[in-house]
Amino acid sequence: MLSFAAAWVVYQNALSSGIAATAQAGQVRLSEVTSTLRLQLSGFRTLANVLANEPILQTALVTAPDAELRDWLADFQLTYGAWHIDLADPQGRIIASSGPAREGQQVTPRLMAAALNARLEFEHVREGGVRLTRFARGLFTADHVPLGVVVVSAEMAALEFEWPVAPEPVVFFDADNQSFIANRPELLGLSLTAAPDAGGFPILRQPGPHALWRLGPPANSQGDVLRLERFIAPLDLRAEIFVSVAPAQEAARLRFALALATALVIGLIGAIAVQQRRQLAFEADYSATLEARVEARTAELRKAQGELVEASKLAALGRLSAGISHELNQPLAAILNFAENGRKFLAKGRVDPVSDNLALIGDQVRRMTRIINNLRAFARKEVMPTEPISFRAVVENAYGLVAADLAKAGVAASLSLPDDDVDVLAGRVRLEQVVLNLLTNAMDAMATSTDKNLLVSLDSTGSSAALTVRDTGSGIQDPDRVFEPFYTTKNLGASQGLGLGLSLALGIIQQFGGQLSCRNLAQGAEFKITLPLLEDTQDV
Ligand code: ADP
Repeated sequence: MLSFAAAWVVYQNALSSGIAATAQAGQVRLSEVTSTLRLQLSGFRTLANVLANEPILQTALVTAPDAELRDWLADFQLTYGAWHIDLADPQGRIIASSGPAREGQQVTPRLMAAALNARLEFEHVREGGVRLTRFARGLFTADHVPLGVVVVSAEMAALEFEWPVAPEPVVFFDADNQSFIANRPELLGLSLTAAPDAGGFPILRQPGPHALWRLGPPANSQGDVLRLERFIAPLDLRAEIFVSVAPAQEAARLRFALALATALVIGLIGAIAVQQRRQLAFEADYSATLEARVEARTAELRKAQGELVEASKLAALGRLSAGISHELNQPLAAILNFAENGRKFLAKGRVDPVSDNLALIGDQVRRMTRIINNLRAFARKEVMPTEPISFRAVVENAYGLVAADLAKAGVAASLSLPDDDVDVLAGRVRLEQVVLNLLTNAMDAMATSTDKNLLVSLDSTGSSAALTVRDTGSGIQDPDRVFEPFYTTKNLGASQGLGLGLSLALGIIQQFGGQLSCRNLAQGAEFKITLPLLEDTQDV
């Protein structure tokens, strides 16, 4: 709609300026035509002036016209292309003429009065369908006595004939608004004051702001026309030209189409731009909302994570306390038991069993010390001294400690040791504790398995020794977490389940400059301790 309005403005502007240019051209054309007519008529006017001073005519008026005079007038008429040249007496009666038939006719009083007053007068007349303009001039004696009048008539059709052919109708209206001269025969003899359908001049005003007209048939081939006029006072004629505005309208229509197309294209581009901006704004909005949501969610998660950490810390603490209590309660209960037994045996005077029981109490106390030491080591990450030891002996020892339990649990265990000793730099008790932990873990993992096989093998390859412990148990549930402190899948009530074993083991092995790793097998799990061989550590 806006595009159309813009194009309409362009059209109106183009039309206005086109019409203005047409009007200018029309005025030029009109002045050309009027100049031509004035020039044509001024010839006849001059002729009347010249003839008024001709002695032959003066003589003829005093004496009487003869045949020679008539020939003389006919010569002049032919030479100058006049319609007639008449000589009239002071009463207006034509006494001689280039057309003899006119002799005896009367010159109009208007022409006579002016001419006898020594003025050149003219009139436009229609005589038997012939349109004439007559110029009259008085002839006088030397002492100004009027002798008569000479009248030169020009035929309009002859003048029109000399005009160049022009596309625009040009019409000269006389004082009565009758079309008197025109370059279109069909526009002659028509009155502007009568209606077109009653013999009037066929022109109709067109509606619209540009004062356009339309000529009636048959001169209507031009379409809308501009009507320009010019009054020619010396001839008492008003000239009108009807210039077609079709080229201006055509050009304006073209501009309209162009403007409309351009406006539509601009509109389309604008619409696309607006749409894109909306889309961008929407996307920006959306991503801002999304960002805000993500931030809020992240904050929530962080909070939840924080809470979870707190909760798991508490839970871990709980588990730790429960685990410690459990671990310590067992030896304490045993100590109590052994002490009771010892007392009873002592009461009975049996010293040997008392000694046995005291030894057992000592064992339990050592066990408790070990547990407490482990906890301390874990808490303080204490660096304890290392010494060259036999890895082989450590493995053998640890294996020996669990061998009975393994057999009791129905585990088919095999120990594979190298022939040569494998010396490493480590803490004997701590390394044994680690191996023991791996063995008991394996045993625990196979508790519910039907297939219970344990393979413990120590190898030394190149610069390191490796102990692998393979079982056919349940497999590791979460291999990434087994070395985390307090990570356990075991019940707290069971003999183990502190979740500290592997995390301590890892710390210990790392202290010895080695590695502890694990992986799942097709059935069961494999744990591997790698330690640098003593020769190598000493070399370094
Ligand atoms: P705990 O034995 O007190 O649970 P650990 O740190 O020794 O603590 O072990 C942590 C966890 O690692 C165990 O609870 C168990 O889930 C897993 N794990 C350890 N050894 C094995 C194994 N041989 N097979 C399967 N899972 C194991």
